[in-house]
Amino acid sequence: MDASSVTLQRRSTRRIEVGGVPVGGGEPVSVQSMTTTKTADVEGTLAQIYALAAAGCDIVRCTCNEAEAAEGLAHIVPRSPIPVIADIHHNHRMALAAIDAGVHGLRLNPGNIRRPEHIKAVAAAARDRRIPIRIGVNGGSLDPELYARHGNAVTPEAMVESALMELAYFEEVDFDLVKISVKASNVPLMIEAYRQLADATDVPLHLGVTEAGPLPEGLIKATAGIATLLAEGIGDTIRYSLTADPVEEARAGRVLLESLGLRERSDIDLIACPSCGRAEVDVIKVAEDARAALAGRDLPLQVAVMGCVVNGPGEARDADLGIAAGRGRGHLFVKGQNVAVVDEDEMVDQLLEWAEFIAEHGTEAAIARVDTERAAREAERDRSALLTDKGEDANSAQQRVELIRRDLQG
Ligand code: SF4
Repeated sequence: MDASSVTLQRRSTRRIEVGGVPVGGGEPVSVQSMTTTKTADVEGTLAQIYALAAAGCDIVRCTCNEAEAAEGLAHIVPRSPIPVIADIHHNHRMALAAIDAGVHGLRLNPGNIRRPEHIKAVAAAARDRRIPIRIGVNGGSLDPELYARHGNAVTPEAMVESALMELAYFEEVDFDLVKISVKASNVPLMIEAYRQLADATDVPLHLGVTEAGPLPEGLIKATAGIATLLAEGIGDTIRYSLTADPVEEARAGRVLLESLGLRERSDIDLIACPSCGRAEVDVIKVAEDARAALAGRDLPLQVAVMGCVVNGPGEARDADLGIAAGRGRGHLFVKGQNVAVVDEDEMVDQLLEWAEFIAEHGTEAAIARVDTERAAREAERDRSALLTDKGEDANSAQQRVELIRRDLQG
């Protein structure tokens, strides 16, 4: 089995659509984010939505907390490049107004809209317009009665019960265009709540760690929760809740899904070694320069930046394209094969040139356009010289042992 044939198995769920974006039923996991502008600020909100869509966001949510926001949505929805969901917290009338504004979906918090007749009125209106609703349970705003019944604690069981109670109200009015989230800022709690929910229903699930916080901690916390569940096959759509520009949320979601093989790569996947004492170049700077040069250019390739030619090409042999530094020169390799040796100050420019060629013609054509044997001979000269200077390949334990023994005897 090679690396590309390892795929994550996904749990089977019902399929719904949010403004044409499928969610559940084995469809690709989608990325969501939420605008931070006032929804009444139509132009500002649309500018943010366009930036989110460019960063890989599939579905966007805007708050609908007042009449001006609902009116703003009426102008935003027809001009948005991606489906728009209205976020409703306390006033069910805002949900009805958002439906009138033409939104593609709603998010209701069962802890905040609690009267059954209000919940059912919204579900009936959504049913009549074929608009899906997310039941968005939040550990921090659980229904007080439910909270008390579960021993004055936010438990996975209480969160799941909250979601299923709301689902039962929806079923009373024959509404089934539903997805559910049970978010919490506590990662183990959130993971367990989603696991229990996945056992209890086949409704598609929206994953998230709520209030994850600023970068980088928030990113790690959210990834710990979301990635754990996705790896178990749980989750149909995701949102990173970061205290950051929402574009970071969309980017994080896209990169996570690409990393897990759940979404086709749309941009560069830059891998780089962590650097060590062998590095022949400032790996951090070259990697940053390479990312600045290659990202955002529709180059769906894996590109490696490695600090030395001793181990770099071998360790990054699966990358579409890579460069390893050695004695003031950069060794370019395609799928592990040396294709050129270039001056160090040309490394990033050459990476870009080769990446553009590969994106257009493929790796085989890139290898075919040069004399790889000559490039390999040139690369081997640098590599041998470095080995002579610095000792054996870092992966060769026996040679290391002999070197230590020789040094100790001397
Ligand atoms: S590729 Fe070379 S420089 Fe980078 S971590 Fe490995 S041995 Fe060190």
